[in-house]
Amino acid sequence: MPYARKKHHKGVLHLKKSWRTKRRTKDLDEIDEDLKEENAVKLINQEVDLDKPGAAQHYCIHCARYFINQRALQDHFSTKVHKRRMKALETEPYSIEESERAAGKGNFVFAQKRKIETIETEDDINKESKVMRVDE
Ligand SMILES: [Zn+2]
Repeated sequence: MPYARKKHHKGVLHLKKSWRTKRRTKDLDEIDEDLKEENAVKLINQEVDLDKPGAAQHYCIHCARYFINQRALQDHFSTKVHKRRMKALETEPYSIEESERAAGKGNFVFAQKRKIETIETEDDINKESKVMRVDE
């Protein structure tokens, strides 16, 4: 047969994958990890990194974004973007429990609504963990 059907171009799949993994920001479940006390402390007290905006000293954990100075960070906290993100984080992210529920195993558990507050300093983390302990 002179016109044998050619196989798909090998490079396509590879390109698509690299495009997909090149994300600009973190996923909500990754940010949820960051909000855990031990991770949050590290993110707030990052080492000076001159490649990052503001040398990585003004970071919004909830939005996974760096800001150039304290003022910019403060301004960001009052923006729609940040507030919308706080709302999104209030609902528990997709968990193992939830995936089991989707598969029809176990009992039905409602997604938990949590109280999320802007974390700016270590004091905020301590305050938050106190709140979380009351819930338990
Ligand atoms: Zn933010």
